[in-house]
Amino acid sequence: MTIPAVREPERFVDLHSHSTASDGAASPREMVEAAVASGLAAVALTDHDTLGGVAEAQAAGEELGIRVIAGAELSTTDGQREWHMLALHVRDREALDSRLAHFRDAREDRARVIVEKLAAIGVAISYEDVLAESGGGAIGRPHIARVLIANGHVRDFREAFDRYLGYGRPAFAEKELIPIADAITMVHEAGGIAVLAHPGTDGRPERIAALAAAGLDGLEVRHPGHAMDVEPRLTRLAAQHGMVRSGGSDWHGGGEGTRLLNGMRVPIGWLQEQDERVARIRAAG
Ligand code: AMP
Ligand code: ZN
Ligand code: FE
Ligand code: FE
Repeated sequence: MTIPAVREPERFVDLHSHSTASDGAASPREMVEAAVASGLAAVALTDHDTLGGVAEAQAAGEELGIRVIAGAELSTTDGQREWHMLALHVRDREALDSRLAHFRDAREDRARVIVEKLAAIGVAISYEDVLAESGGGAIGRPHIARVLIANGHVRDFREAFDRYLGYGRPAFAEKELIPIADAITMVHEAGGIAVLAHPGTDGRPERIAALAAAGLDGLEVRHPGHAMDVEPRLTRLAAQHGMVRSGGSDWHGGGEGTRLLNGMRVPIGWLQEQDERVARIRAAG
């Protein structure tokens, strides 16, 4: 008779989430509480263009016994389209956050432009309401969507984006984007790793190769927005260029299914590979 081997229960991490520091619905502390409740071993806070929620999240993490990784999601461009870049394992939060201040200011100017465009087509909301909705965090279109809903202009987020805020819609306005190579440098200077967020089917091999040559550290291969065939393809590309994998739910508070914290079941081994890469970079630099 053989004795069955005792197997450790598999542990999971979630390396993409948002809080009220940008356009999420939960405070940084509430995000960490939800991460604990979902059974995660570690969670990264990756708010849009800010690390403003990280200190609160890490303090909550220490108290509640869960590792909280310092991150941000940067809005970047290659001159053709917008790409999101996750900064993960940021060591010098102040350094990166101060570089992002300009882009947060630009988000305010853009929100004003969107409110003006809405007014021009007869949809009157006040910029002050949008500012209040953002609660001092990095302003994004979801804050404007919430004000549109609160004022009865639309029923839900989908209608807000489909009718007014989405790309090509009448109240769409570009935000100021960080040149993608600058974003990679910024992240490295702050001691973190740069991971291309949800590349989806647009993550063409030539494009990924060029970014890897520019210092990109990893690919977010697992994301709720990805179709079934995307993860295996991106996994091969990551391996080919010696990059790490990442994954997460892109949690914005609430949600369901794969959009819940731990909804993507990202193995803790992926985080260990990231830790090794961070250690190597820091030892070399
Ligand atoms: P912004 O940073 O202002 O460009 O807003 C981008 C954010 O808006 C994303 O991170 C999502 O949270 C949200 N978003 C973008 N497109 C949609 C959509 N079609 N429906 C709902 N939310 C969206
Ligand atoms: Zn968002
Ligand atoms: Fe994104
Ligand atoms: Fe995100």
